[in-house]
Amino acid sequence: MADIRFDKVRKVFDNGVVALEEFSLDIPSPRLVVLVGPSGCGKTTLLRLIAGLERPTSGSIMLGERRLDTTDPRTRDVAMVFQNYALYPHMTVRENLSFGLHIRKMAKDLIRTRVDEVSRSLEIHDLLERRPAQLSGGQRQRVALGRAVVREPSVFLFDEPLSNLDARLRDEMRFLIKQLYERLRTTTVYVTHDQVEAMTIGELLVVLRAGRIHQVGSPTDCYRKPCDTFVASFLGSPPMNLMHATYDLATRSVLLDSGVRFPAPATMSAALERAGEEALTLGVRPEDMRPAESGALSGELLLRGRVILREILGHETLTHLRLGEQKIITRGAEAVPAKSDGTAAIAVETGKIHFFSRTSGVRIDEEGAGALA
Ligand code: ADP
Ligand code: MG
Repeated sequence: MADIRFDKVRKVFDNGVVALEEFSLDIPSPRLVVLVGPSGCGKTTLLRLIAGLERPTSGSIMLGERRLDTTDPRTRDVAMVFQNYALYPHMTVRENLSFGLHIRKMAKDLIRTRVDEVSRSLEIHDLLERRPAQLSGGQRQRVALGRAVVREPSVFLFDEPLSNLDARLRDEMRFLIKQLYERLRTTTVYVTHDQVEAMTIGELLVVLRAGRIHQVGSPTDCYRKPCDTFVASFLGSPPMNLMHATYDLATRSVLLDSGVRFPAPATMSAALERAGEEALTLGVRPEDMRPAESGALSGELLLRGRVILREILGHETLTHLRLGEQKIITRGAEAVPAKSDGTAAIAVETGKIHFFSRTSGVRIDEEGAGALA
């Protein structure tokens, strides 16, 4: 059991690309941490740094008391599972699982016992004599997982391991990985660009963009209190609706660019005055909007727009509306009903509106302007 600690790690590739910028993060053991961010934000680079496949340009990486970035990769005790499985094609499943243990000169009968045990727990015991080409994608990924598990490493690294699987298999593997973690309690760093995967797998979420950390927190915290507009729109599907608005200090009201004005919630006006922000971005989650043909209740903001699309998903329906230049998506059990002219009214409690500075994108709330991590 060992904590992983990044201290001001910077990684610049030879071609000048800055993959990570001042990256500092503590991953206490045992923890399942999910790093999530769009493609190209530095996720793979980060895992490769932990695995020793890359060296940081500056800064340090510690595993417990050991300085990782100067340790020989072969002695790091870290197992990585990749998106593309990376199995040895000419070896059987048993050989694939045993290979790393043979290299470490483990006794043959011990290897056999361990491989049998792990392959049973991953339900690949019947496949031990097959070669990778004779397996389905899901089975290959189980073998790749098994190969990491038999080594009993002190850290697991997962690099988008579910990306090549179809939706049903992804759900199954997600469950398997989570279960495995519950059983083994080994520090795990899991990277994905998929926010649904991130929300469901992670205990601790690290949201990355362009080599920088935007937010660190539980999935629920990051979802409910995104620290900036990037996190707000990255987590959640469909994403949070973002609208431009202006704060009017004289009347303590907020004026949406679409022309609607509403009194700022009492807790917010103090925060807005403290932050000294006038140009705002407002955020509303699709599930925080309700159909309101009969008008708004007190404390609600009423918006009227034109319905442009409905998506019926069975358990919920998405309604897309257009308010002037602004597009809005709402989500609820039922579609938002439209009048004969195609318009519909929706209401949102002003207390559920997220406020961000339009210039910096940073959240403004009662606790003051949230700082970027
Ligand atoms: P992610 O895994 O989040 O998609 P990567 O860590 O693979 O992102 O890449 C981060 C950035 O570094 C990207 O801009 C990528 O093009 C660049 N990059 C990755 N590996 C190399 C390399 N070996 N040489 C040069 N640039 C690289
Ligand atoms: Mg990657």
